[in-house]
This record gives sequence, C-alpha cells and structure tokens, in this order.
Amino acid sequence: MNHLSQLFSQLNAPKCGFENTPGMRYCGRCGSPLNPEEIEKVSVEAQKIKEYEKIINEITESMKQLKRKVNELKRDYLKLKESIQQKN
Ligand SMILES: [Zn+2]
Repeated sequence: MNHLSQLFSQLNAPKCGFENTPGMRYCGRCGSPLNPEEIEKVSVEAQKIKEYEKIINEITESMKQLKRKVNELKRDYLKLKESIQQKN
C-alpha cells in the first residue's frame, strides 16, 4: 500500500502537477523528469549552466576592462611618440 502510493506520487510532475501514465520518465505536459534520479541530474545540470554563465560574464567583463586599458595605453603611446617627433 505504501509502495503503491509512492508509485502514484511519482506520476505527478513535480513542476506542473500533471498526472502521468505509469512508466513515463518525463511529464507529458511540461517535459520535466518524473523519477528522483533524473530530477537530481537536471538540477545538477542547471547548476552547472549557472556557473558557466557566471564565468562567461566574468571573462566578458575582464575583456572589456582589458580593452579599455589597451586603448589607454595606445593613446599614451601615440602622445609620447608625437612629443618625441616634435622634439626632433
Ligand atoms: Zn508536468
């Protein structure tokens, strides 16, 4: 009896509550996984995606700062070059 209720509770999609037919691995309505292992896997993958996005954002921001720095250096370099040419 306990086992049966467990089986039935897994038929309801955790995401939308839709009652699926037995043996389904994914919800027929929202496509979310129905067994605990699959649910865990998906949440681990979602966590990884978040981490990747964070790293990509950090690298993008660093590159912007680097680009700004390079432009500053170029400007200083050109100024210095100009001043040297004027002296000669
Ligand atoms: Zn669903």
